Amino acid sequence: MKILRTANAGVLLTLDGVRILLDGVCGDLPPYLATPNDIKLKLFHSLPDIVAYTHFHTDHFDNEFALYYENKTGNKIISPDCPTPQSVKGVTVSSAETRHIGKTDAKHLSFIIKGSKTVWFMGDASPANLKNLAENSKPDVLLAPFSYFNSPSSLRLLKNLGASKVYVLHLPNENNDEFNINSTVMGNIKNEPDIHILNMGEVVIL
Ligand SMILES: [Zn+2]
Repeated sequence: MKILRTANAGVLLTLDGVRILLDGVCGDLPPYLATPNDIKLKLFHSLPDIVAYTHFHTDHFDNEFALYYENKTGNKIISPDCPTPQSVKGVTVSSAETRHIGKTDAKHLSFIIKGSKTVWFMGDASPANLKNLAENSKPDVLLAPFSYFNSPSSLRLLKNLGASKVYVLHLPNENNDEFNINSTVMGNIKNEPDIHILNMGEVVIL
């Protein structure tokens, strides 16, 4: 399995040779990081097998990429408007309706990716959704936004899942972080050997 961070809260996941883009091209919504141009160009050039978006907020979604992908490949993106599961070569991406964190009515999905390993991709789902998801599945790898790591109660919920690797996404730009979220999260996870911050453009191989 390979995970490349390509967006504010998005990655290109390669599982059993299948390339799956999850919230993986996003726009610019400071203090969050947009997809860098070089990464965007590579994705336009070498389109993934499956593209899935948890919701349509600018820091997760890019309409231009979604339209290009659909026109070029004839595949639909998975999104709240089209949540049908997709499978390629034995790897399946299915979705669960989850509640977006905070005060918004945005329709929102989280993704469960199953192949030789199971990956959960939370998007902007509230940590309270973890319990429901855990009724049907257990993650080997979990990708989640910073809000799962900046309070002890969310962190406890997350650790109860028993994922062997957990990656933090959606941290604000370190130079534009008025609430010191980066340092709070770093402090909370410093003694957690299985929880890592995934930086923009960073690749991990598991
Ligand atoms: Zn959102």
